[in-house]
Amino acid sequence: MKYANIIVNISHESLDKTFQYVIPERLRDEVSVGDYVSIPFGRGNRLIEGYVLEITDKAEIDPAKLKEITGIKTDSRLVEHKLIRLAYWMKQRYGSTMITALKTVLPIKKIVKEKEERSIILCMEDEAAYERLKLYARKHQTARERLMRELINEKQLDYRLVTTKLNISTATINAMEKQEVLKIEKTRVYRNTAGRTDESGSSNRLRLNEEQEKIASGIINEYSRGIRNTYLIHGITGSGKTEVYMEIIDAVVRQGRQVIVLIPEISLTYQTVMRFYKRFGDSVSTLHSKLSDGEKYDQFERAKKGEISVMIGPRSALFTPFEDLGLIVIDEEHESSYKSDSMPKYHARETAIELAALHGASVILGSATPSMEAYYRALKGEYKLYTLDKRARSDAGLPAVHIADLREELKSGNRTMFSRELKAMMEERLEKGEQIMLFLNRRGYAGFYSCRSCGFVLKCPHCDVSMSRHEGGRLKCHYCGYEREEVKICPECGSSYIGGMRAGTQQIEEGVKKLFPHASVLRMDADTTSAKGSYEKILSAFANREADILIGTQMIVKGHDFPYVTLMGILIADMSLNVGDYRASERTFQLLTQAAGRAGRAEFPGDVVIQTYKPEHYAIIAAAKQDYKEFYNEEIMYRELMEYPPAGHMLAVMIESRDEDAADDYAKGLAEMLKDDIIKGLHTDKVRLIGPADAAVRKINDVYRKLIYLKSADQELLVALKDRVEEIKDNDEINPVTKNKGIRVTPDMDPVNGY
Ligand code: ADP
Ligand code: ZN
Ligand code: ZN
Repeated sequence: MKYANIIVNISHESLDKTFQYVIPERLRDEVSVGDYVSIPFGRGNRLIEGYVLEITDKAEIDPAKLKEITGIKTDSRLVEHKLIRLAYWMKQRYGSTMITALKTVLPIKKIVKEKEERSIILCMEDEAAYERLKLYARKHQTARERLMRELINEKQLDYRLVTTKLNISTATINAMEKQEVLKIEKTRVYRNTAGRTDESGSSNRLRLNEEQEKIASGIINEYSRGIRNTYLIHGITGSGKTEVYMEIIDAVVRQGRQVIVLIPEISLTYQTVMRFYKRFGDSVSTLHSKLSDGEKYDQFERAKKGEISVMIGPRSALFTPFEDLGLIVIDEEHESSYKSDSMPKYHARETAIELAALHGASVILGSATPSMEAYYRALKGEYKLYTLDKRARSDAGLPAVHIADLREELKSGNRTMFSRELKAMMEERLEKGEQIMLFLNRRGYAGFYSCRSCGFVLKCPHCDVSMSRHEGGRLKCHYCGYEREEVKICPECGSSYIGGMRAGTQQIEEGVKKLFPHASVLRMDADTTSAKGSYEKILSAFANREADILIGTQMIVKGHDFPYVTLMGILIADMSLNVGDYRASERTFQLLTQAAGRAGRAEFPGDVVIQTYKPEHYAIIAAAKQDYKEFYNEEIMYRELMEYPPAGHMLAVMIESRDEDAADDYAKGLAEMLKDDIIKGLHTDKVRLIGPADAAVRKINDVYRKLIYLKSADQELLVALKDRVEEIKDNDEINPVTKNKGIRVTPDMDPVNGY
């Protein structure tokens, strides 16, 4: 007998409960997961509808008490049907319960007060507006100046966008409204009045250059011939990928189909969003993590009603309930934020491809530094590869890249963190009034706190990671937040040569201020951006030329356009090479290449200085040459030799417990059982089991972390082993180590972020 577990109402309250029904003989071959079926419900056997989440042989209660499914609703084209199928696929591929997978793909209904959408409209003639702009500038009212400049360009702006992405406070907007500079209107009006359809759309369109045109028409052609594909556009920063996406999106939208555009949240800047708004008007909507569940639900409702045809957002925008999805674009495809870090640990790239198959849609991946995975698949012919290797704007040259060997600097007596070359270039830029960015691929003061005499490293007692030193001398743990006062004498050897490795963003700021006391400096890192809105504030201040130098971590290199930046200094390029993770070189190459791409985006030629202790490392050499292929060819040899993804697949199984012995025992027991399975299944030469071992970070928040890695070229074998892990985890009889020890087991297919 087959039973179906059915959810009767996809909404907040009932999500956590399924009801079991018997699949009657006559429907045996027809019912599948995701189907919308009618069932008798409650005492009165009222007929209601529900979705089939799971089909099983196991009855949860006495089978005689179960009712039968009445019939299948024919309306299987429903949006939920596809999302439920997708959730099922995610559950199987990545591991999690069905309910957790469902919660990931289905919007949670929350009753919220309807928020009206508003826009800001300029109420002045251009001339008066320019006068006003000058006045704001004179008075150093930078926020007003910023808003005014946008208003002069656009005449009307989306309220939410102005407050979130332009970082203008409501107080500022209200003040300007009082001055009768602008007025605020409900967006309905904006929708109807703004003729942002065809005509204005085309006036905003750039003529694609030959390279861009070839790609756009190639993909559009295939699309209109009904060919669906996954494409990879490998295009250097500024080569015009976004224009190409928009051209193709336009064609798909004109066919009445919808498009999802994934952009890492950190790159989802005001400028980027405006480009899409200008081209597609209010059929565009954006999602970001700051939206409440209710607001997100509203956006999804609009999508379902067909009011939106392009949804832009981070990873979770993938689950926008579009009825007839035609295209998914994933920009900056290599970003690690596309991998979920909670269950199910799905990757947006693979999940997008699966979703596209369900809808008959195409997928476009784009990056200046494609992930090893994407490029590998493209070379194997699974994805179709296109390349853009020139900058789109004729006036934008490529930056000149210089390498400074820090070992040589030290030898010649330069003990500062600025090589002579970088220092000279900084002097020159400051004289000319051009802007500089200094990039450190690390956050805050996160250097080891260590003893230079004996090598002792001071660690967090809860997390087994090095403590780092913050302003005022406090020592902090970045995993759990543990704090303590500074240590002046080494507890191991008594030496006083103990301290933080002098290479944090604060340290650099101090160094810059010493060298160039008159330069104005902004710093962007985890510490300066913890307050809400501070991230946008720093970015717009710098874009507005309110500072000469921007110092920062990863955050400053992702997708922002600063036209006056002509020098990028990368301070210690090899820092990110030293993390114990097989992706360290890849990540370093990506960061350096992106950082280099920040300089010289507009009228000014740029220079990039890469300072390093390892100038001979291939990731650094290739990044300096901006040569992706050279990097790829070196890196893939290493991956193949070690059977790391993408040359093979890898399943990580994390075992966590507060009781280290229990975690150890469980991990060993689990490893033994998996080995037995591998031997029994005769897969001994196809699957390799590694571990169990301590994770690189052995404990976090007093929870110990053990890892088992399974490697295989055959992903299906790993999926089967993942199923086995979940089966063992849920069954105390199979594994005698009791649940009571509080053991958590989480599988992670093809992990992206190291442990
Ligand atoms: P990417 O997405 O590859 O970084 P963008 O699409 O943002 O590149 O383009 C970079 C810059 O070049 C933008 O300022 C854009 O307006 C401009 N641009 C792109 N395509 C063209 C074109 N065909 N003609 C003129 N300028 C272009
Ligand atoms: Zn010591
Ligand atoms: Zn800690």
